[in-house]
Amino acid sequence: MNCPKCGVECIISAAHNEAEQHGDQVTVYTVQDFQCRNPSCDGYGKKQGEIRHVIFNGIPK
Ligand SMILES: [Zn+2]
Repeated sequence: MNCPKCGVECIISAAHNEAEQHGDQVTVYTVQDFQCRNPSCDGYGKKQGEIRHVIFNGIPK
């Protein structure tokens, strides 16, 4: 993703997994936090957003 303040492509600063359960259905995400890498930007070094990737969606066996 790009920084919403300066438009420079962000770097991934952290990632973790999250799980949600609805009945038997489980969804597991990898959540990547993005931070700005442009030193002249107000948002430099700060989290600008996150992207969730579904890595599992279904009923665990
Ligand atoms: Zn920026």
